[in-house]
Amino acid sequence: MGDHVVTAAVPAGLPAGADDLSVWPASTTRLPDGDLAVGGVSLSELADRFDTPAYVLDEAEVRGRCRTYRDAFPDTDVLYAAKAFLSRAMVRWVREEGLGLDVCSAGELELAVTSGFPAERVVLHGNAKSPRDLEAALRLGVGRIVIDGPSEIARIAAAVGPGGRQKVMVRVVPGISAGGHDKIRTGTDDQKFGLSLADGSAQHAIARILGQPRLELTGLHCHIGSQITEVKPYLVALRRMVGLMARVHDAHGVALPELDLGGGHGIAYRPGEPVLDLTALARRLRAGLIESCAAAGLPVPRLAVEPGRAVAGPAGVALYRVLAVKRTGEKVFVAVDGGMSDNPRPALYGVRYAPRLIGRRSTAEPRTATVVGRHCEAGDILAADAELPGDIRPGDLLAVPVAGAYQLSMASGYNLVGRPPVIAVHEGTATTLMRRETLDDFRSRDIGG
Ligand SMILES: *Cc1c(COP(=O)(O)O)cnc(C)c1O
Repeated sequence: MGDHVVTAAVPAGLPAGADDLSVWPASTTRLPDGDLAVGGVSLSELADRFDTPAYVLDEAEVRGRCRTYRDAFPDTDVLYAAKAFLSRAMVRWVREEGLGLDVCSAGELELAVTSGFPAERVVLHGNAKSPRDLEAALRLGVGRIVIDGPSEIARIAAAVGPGGRQKVMVRVVPGISAGGHDKIRTGTDDQKFGLSLADGSAQHAIARILGQPRLELTGLHCHIGSQITEVKPYLVALRRMVGLMARVHDAHGVALPELDLGGGHGIAYRPGEPVLDLTALARRLRAGLIESCAAAGLPVPRLAVEPGRAVAGPAGVALYRVLAVKRTGEKVFVAVDGGMSDNPRPALYGVRYAPRLIGRRSTAEPRTATVVGRHCEAGDILAADAELPGDIRPGDLLAVPVAGAYQLSMASGYNLVGRPPVIAVHEGTATTLMRRETLDDFRSRDIGG
């Protein structure tokens, strides 16, 4: 995440910023002929060897980001939010770097535990936990279950059975609007997650859990949204959560030992975009926690944070080949061999990316283009208003940085294109983590014929 090694000069004729590698993995270097290397491996060689579309994941960037969190947040549990991207290698890297894991389903939980992740370091979330989710959580011995609604209290207690005891937390909605888009704001009362602080349902649920001998309430949880770039909303959430802990203490004589403030830490997808300052976040949360606990006469609880995007996002690069270039009126459409089936985020939340031509040096004037996918939807856009060389043509390679989070984990089978492979790069070596999904994969599930 630091400086990039410059191996070739910025070519003449490019506008300022067009050669900016600030959102790329720290290992990224420039190679001759417009190519880039990530993790010591040439991206155009990867495209030739593994075909496109393909996803490249820089192991050192993932590990480096885990370490940045551990260093910035001492005395805090850092849990990686698995839904951003999960694979067996990712589970291993996160475990080796000393993080915990936050999962939302039996599938994510089983993959993690069967890949060697200690279940007691896993927290299970979900606004609608299925019987299978709860069965897996209890069978595997998950560390915490986060209760998201009143009906879960009796359900989990019943599943635990007589003599058993499960550690739980309560997801509280602190009434804060923060985050990059309506669909990722989860801290307000008008969305599906959690129990409201404002209408008393959080307090009511807490009282019921404390009266339930099969459940051990370890603390409170909130997750106020995603792609948040300011420290302030977290501080407001912290104060409201400590306020609730103080009321729990007054009403029940219980000092809850844990406070989990969720994730949502914002990253830059394009050069110049704001980023959440993790050091400032950690420092101000710690100071705010000590101050508000002292004011409320509470012991300081252990903090937890749950970053997903900020760990995986900047470690990934998506590679596509241009299949067609179409000029319609004022617009230039550059169509590539992937699209919404490997990255639905632009269609879902209108997010913006900065794709880059690789594998050939162009001296053409840059033009604004819309990079679209190959799927049968007009909304199948990968990058609106992308600055690309004016001579972009079929056969060219495009690389999209910051592709590691919420892309492949949200990928679909649309148009039977097949999900791309994931290639890990590290110190000059490329390893396939996940192979490309093939027609045989689709056929093997299609057993009705
Ligand atoms: C999605 C989610 C996270 C991670 O969010 P990021 O924006 O990827 O950091 C953390 N906690 C919970 C409960 C979540 O649902």
